[in-house]
Amino acid sequence: MRKEFLHELIKSQVGSNATWSAYHYIKGDPYPLILQEAEKQTGVKCDIYWVENGVPSTFTLSAIQGYANRVVLWHSRHLELSFYLRKLFINGDPKEIIIELAERQCLIAIAELSLAKKNGDFAVKAFLKSINGQGIFNPHHDILLDSKLEPIDESYFVAWFYGLAHEIGHAVPLTDEIRNYPFLTDEAMNEALEDALLVFNYYPEHIKKEARNRLNSNKKKYFIEKDHIRSEVIADLTAINILYNSALRTIYQSSNKFDIITFVLEVIIMANLIVLLERCEKMAQYAAKPPVDEKKLDYVLMPIAYYIRIGKIYEYLEILLATFGTNTQKIQKKQMKAAEAVMEQLFDQYEPVIGAIDSGLSNAMKFTFNQQESYDDLFNQFSSDVKSKSGGYFRLQAKEFCRLADSYGIASKQLELLKKII
Ligand SMILES: [Zn+2]
Repeated sequence: MRKEFLHELIKSQVGSNATWSAYHYIKGDPYPLILQEAEKQTGVKCDIYWVENGVPSTFTLSAIQGYANRVVLWHSRHLELSFYLRKLFINGDPKEIIIELAERQCLIAIAELSLAKKNGDFAVKAFLKSINGQGIFNPHHDILLDSKLEPIDESYFVAWFYGLAHEIGHAVPLTDEIRNYPFLTDEAMNEALEDALLVFNYYPEHIKKEARNRLNSNKKKYFIEKDHIRSEVIADLTAINILYNSALRTIYQSSNKFDIITFVLEVIIMANLIVLLERCEKMAQYAAKPPVDEKKLDYVLMPIAYYIRIGKIYEYLEILLATFGTNTQKIQKKQMKAAEAVMEQLFDQYEPVIGAIDSGLSNAMKFTFNQQESYDDLFNQFSSDVKSKSGGYFRLQAKEFCRLADSYGIASKQLELLKKII
């Protein structure tokens, strides 16, 4: 393939201000090992491009004719937002603060992703909502640079590479063998749905019925269809295997003890965050092209689909815990019980945070679905924020946002208004 062709293709996806290059890593970084392991797990070679000044999304370019390698665009902004969100898990902030910050982070993700979809007016709306009246500020420094200096341990592997490994994991095709994994059979998928419907028991009966229909519809266009969920789960499990094998190897080589509990905990956090950012992407998609009729219901059922997916990841982590340290794949009942107990304990510990982050996301989703707040109100609030004592912060954020919008060649009335204020 001609280099210029690939260049044009990437540019069309990431905006004109974005830059991309091979990922630069310092000595000792596990990145090359992860790529090696990824190739072993998937049997596919990947070309990874590290994209800066883009939007929070990591994705694979659709198959390019005459080019066997998969081209994955790994956005620094995707990672950056996941690191901010990860802080919500580990900081131990009060619930109200977690909800507020999660909502703001989701809205900014939706706003930036809306720019990539050329939905300028709504992007401005979501941006204003994300920033208006903000009293708690993320310290303005380079969170990625800071994180690079962290020790290379279980957390480092998962926090840095889960999103990338998930994307690479999509190279694994969904086969009948996978469909017959004990926890992915048709029966297991339907059971998982029934469990989920108990949690989402406030959904009206006719919607629950439609969830069952769509899960078994064999129409992959539905988020909740079983093969659709399985494909995501397989990408997740492949990611876990890539990270587990490479972390295990690295940490053993440095003669440190591999801490399986920390590893599992980090996967729980990152899997939830990657799903969260994916849901923001779906929201941006919804806003750009509001679905009609049966497609609309797909968005209503989306939380159930994600709930099932996360549940499958947890099931796999239990197996990982149960087999850790043994050299047999056959799991003893006793080990499985012990693993379940550990998962339950971790879950109890983090469930309140996951719940709070979910509430923040729900608020951002409601804002996107309803779009009730007027531009006038949002702009009035923003104007007074700009005049406040923290005005510099608001102006700076808005300037960065406008720069991103320009890089996507957005022409929008609301964007012009925003530029006038700053
Ligand atoms: Zn995916």
